[in-house]
Amino acid sequence: MIDTHAHLDFENYNDDRDKVIKRFFKGGGKAIVNIGVDFKRNKKVIKLAQENEKLFAVIGFHPEGAGRVAVSEVKTSLVQLLKEKEENKIVAIGEIGLDYFHNQENKKEQKELFQSQLDLAIKYSLPVVVHCRDAYKDVLKILKKPQYKELKVVMHCYMGNQKQTRDFLQLPNLYFSFTGNITFADFGKYKNGKLVPEKAEIFRVIEQIPLEKIMAETDCPFLAPNPHRGKRNEPVFVREVIKRLAKIKGLGFEEAERKTDDNAITFFKLFK
Ligand SMILES: [Zn+2]
Repeated sequence: MIDTHAHLDFENYNDDRDKVIKRFFKGGGKAIVNIGVDFKRNKKVIKLAQENEKLFAVIGFHPEGAGRVAVSEVKTSLVQLLKEKEENKIVAIGEIGLDYFHNQENKKEQKELFQSQLDLAIKYSLPVVVHCRDAYKDVLKILKKPQYKELKVVMHCYMGNQKQTRDFLQLPNLYFSFTGNITFADFGKYKNGKLVPEKAEIFRVIEQIPLEKIMAETDCPFLAPNPHRGKRNEPVFVREVIKRLAKIKGLGFEEAERKTDDNAITFFKLFK
């Protein structure tokens, strides 16, 4: 199993980071992709990747920084790190995107920040990890621009509905990754002690997406899957996400694991 989206640089792991990493690999983990969000954290995910051969770095500026950091400074700092792309084990640009759930006042700045980093991804032939909250129309509009046609994109922590998913599926190089929150939804409702089947929207969405386009992630320390919901999340819990994906897709765990691993290895070009 591969955790394609972790934030092990967060201070939540300051006391036991090594143990958390060990637990993952002891539990059958193959690789962890750590995601940066700002100046300081980009450097930290690179450092973590350099310290462990099975950890990889994704660097970028999260939309929550839009308007607070100058786009020119963002570019300069990313280019600095990208100059040593191989040594720094940078496998993608992210997480970048649009977040209108947290802020609707600075859409223009968010779009500018997002696109400047998409341009860098093109320039350095890297895929991108996209954060999208309540902004799917604008994200789609931007990704559809001809200059981004070749760009490989993963929509992280995907929670879109069926219509949005159909739209995203029109982009041939777009992938979807799912977190612990897919374990919160149920396969039905209990009525008089009996389970009446009623599929959650997210299950229908996952059924709709070809397995070749699906990856698994934790987004730790956030979104711990059931049965760990509410606790600090960590990479080894990605097993629960894969288990749920397997159940929805009607596959055995091993097959779902192998497919999601293969997808991640191909997408991020891990271990090349
Ligand atoms: Zn994240």
